[in-house]
Amino acid sequence: SFLVNRQRAWVEIDLTALAHNVKTLKNFIQPQTKLMAVVKADAYGHGAVAVAQTALTNGADCLAIATLPEGVELRQAGINAPILILGAINAVEDIQAIAAWQLEPTICNLEQALVFDRTLASLGKSLPVHLKLDTGMSRLGTNWQDANSFVSLVKSLSNLKIASIYSHFSTADESDRTTMNLQHQRFQNAITQLKDGGYIPPQIHLANSAATLCDRSCHYDIVRVGLALYGLYPAPHLRNSIELKPVLQVKAKIAQVKIIPSGEGVSYGRKFITKKDTKIAVVGIGYADGIPRNLSNHLQAIVGGKLVDQIGSITMDQLMLDVDHIPDLRSGDIVTLIGQQNDLSISAEDWANTLNTISWEILCSFKHRLPRIYI
Ligand code: PLP
Repeated sequence: SFLVNRQRAWVEIDLTALAHNVKTLKNFIQPQTKLMAVVKADAYGHGAVAVAQTALTNGADCLAIATLPEGVELRQAGINAPILILGAINAVEDIQAIAAWQLEPTICNLEQALVFDRTLASLGKSLPVHLKLDTGMSRLGTNWQDANSFVSLVKSLSNLKIASIYSHFSTADESDRTTMNLQHQRFQNAITQLKDGGYIPPQIHLANSAATLCDRSCHYDIVRVGLALYGLYPAPHLRNSIELKPVLQVKAKIAQVKIIPSGEGVSYGRKFITKKDTKIAVVGIGYADGIPRNLSNHLQAIVGGKLVDQIGSITMDQLMLDVDHIPDLRSGDIVTLIGQQNDLSISAEDWANTLNTISWEILCSFKHRLPRIYI
């Protein structure tokens, strides 16, 4: 509360909700399947270190991040769980840093494997590595048809220890499973070919949140869960799979309450004109905090236990609410932009629907000007 007292706006992170989601996911997957907490992009805006620590103490087995600095941040915070880097690392200095920080890289193709092997040889070190197959996402990885030659060559490199072979779905959040099933089949084919050639991969993994929730047959040795950790469902049809609790709320304080006469324009460009004398609240949060300006006139907030409309253009540091029907409001009162209060709730998914984007992007959009406050 000391921190809240000094803020105009903040992101509130409910670590109890996060712990609940981690435990629920851990119970949902097979007992032998590991839960990899995907904490890239500062844990989807929730704060990587706090999320990683909470996830690990509540049942997550390992972590995934996208970039080298994200991994270093976790190691510097004293986290010693296995950390997979999902992104591609190619530069020699970066490989040296990976070895020094004991991070586990993704190897996407043979060329990259050779650079890693050479660099590690010069350091006299070896590293666990994760081989990426492309089964239809057309992003990182070696095409699944070439799995055999790729894996057998990496196997022959003495400084690379294959820790897993994995792939990534492109459509697991869609209710039509055609493409997902095709990718799954391609992955299975590749693994079967490896086994037929006498190689048994130590671990294989495929599932993101959506696949984890919709198809237990692709859990394998590890599930790589991001969005669901944060209490959001990848798609509405997955909502009844398990009970998740949203972790993040966005809150801000009212800076000023006043009455605007009828017919007055509100904010830049006069995109909202009052139809009657209207009580408005000026709130200290804006697009420089990550509130998308395209939500102007389409955003709602919870204040005084009621839903209210945001009016006029969202500005860099402030936005206005129509609070005409809310009694007894004063500056310093707290407004919820994303979050729950009694039976009211506004979610990142609601914003995503309005903006025709996805919840993942909304979570990642809150700027560092909004401190993360852990409750
Ligand atoms: N695995 C990979 C390779 C990813 O890139 C991501 C995130 O996009 C995930 C797993 C986690 O995905 P989700 O947040 O949908 O669970």
